[in-house]
Formats: sequence, structure tokens, C-alpha cells
Amino acid sequence: MSTPPASMDHTHQAPTSTLLICEHCDTVYRRRRLRRGEAARCARCQAVLERHQPISLNAMLALVVTVMVVFVQANVWPIITLGLNGEEIHATLWGIIIMMWHEHSQVVAVLAAGTLFFFPLVKMLVLGWLLVYGRLGRRAPGFRRLMVLLHYIGPWTMSEVFVLGVLVSIVKAHLYFDVNPDAGVFAYAVLAILITVFAGIDVRQLWDKIPESSP
Ligand SMILES: [Zn+2]
Repeated sequence: MSTPPASMDHTHQAPTSTLLICEHCDTVYRRRRLRRGEAARCARCQAVLERHQPISLNAMLALVVTVMVVFVQANVWPIITLGLNGEEIHATLWGIIIMMWHEHSQVVAVLAAGTLFFFPLVKMLVLGWLLVYGRLGRRAPGFRRLMVLLHYIGPWTMSEVFVLGVLVSIVKAHLYFDVNPDAGVFAYAVLAILITVFAGIDVRQLWDKIPESSP
């Protein structure tokens, strides 16, 4: 759906919230209020300009806090239990990453640490910081730079790939040892679902929902 020249109800606001610029072909549109489930598309290149965002800043913050709680559990709880010669070994994510590092799989270890730990952690902390201020109607210190950072680390979370990988390894390793999924992997599964929910939220809306000129 393209955006026809808009209604007048936004004209009293700041120029940034009345105009929309297509990221792909730089066409400028006047913004129109979207209804539930609606998306505005560029008439020239069909790129999505923006989608209706039913979620409020409060709901986003609640989601971030939930993700953080599950994230801590996913990293603290063991992911798998290995039974070998009557001995039980509980492996956490960090235990596995350190093991990979020592077993000459440094590249995989760094990738796993980045995509499963550091990038999601930075993303949640940055979003939390922006939202805590946003709820007070203010732009957080460093707002502009942090929004750019969020844009770049956006796709760097791979919890769902990880959960699948762990489950496949459990099935395979079952031939040789006694392997059982532990609480951590279930926490990761929940995390993967929450991150998918999050992927549907366009964080660019913070530019508009937290106005620059506010006190
Ligand atoms: Zn366009």
C-alpha cells in the first residue's frame, strides 16, 4: 500500500515526524496515520517505509526485561548433561565455548560467544537504556549513536540456530553417551521465541515516539 498525500492531522508536529524518506530510493512522502496491520510502501520501489506499531514503550521495556531474565537463566543453567562411565558432566554455554577454544576451534568459539552472548547482551542493554529514558519522555544520553549501533547489531542474534544445533547434537551423541537436555537449552528455546517476537518490532519507531524537543 503506498502512502497517498497525507491527512492534515500531523502538520502541527515537528518536520521529522510528518515526512518519511524511502531508505532505498530517497523519495520523500508525507506521513499518514496507519491502521492496525497496515504498512506504508514506497510507490517507486515498493520498499516498506513503516508498519503500524501497536506496541507501546512500556510494553517494549517489559519485553526487554523478560528477555534479560531468560537470558541470564540460559547462560547460568547447564545446557546439556553428559553421562560417561557413571559420571555426570553438566555443560553450560560458557563451558562449551571455553572447551571449543581449547580444542582449536577458536573461530567457532568467537562466533558463538558473539552471536549468543555479546551481541544480544549489548542489544538488550542499549534498548533498556533507551526505553527507561523514553518512558520519561526523554531521549537518553547518546540516543543518536546508540540507535545507529542498534541498526548494525540488529541481525546478529542466532539463538534459534543454536537451539536447533544443540538438539541435533543431543540426538547424534545419544549413540555414544548418555546425553540429556538441561534447563539451559529450554531457556534458550524460550529466548529464541522472544527474540522472534522482538524481530517483529521496528525499533526505528523510537525516533518518533521519543521526540527530540521534549524536556
Ligand atoms: Zn523507494
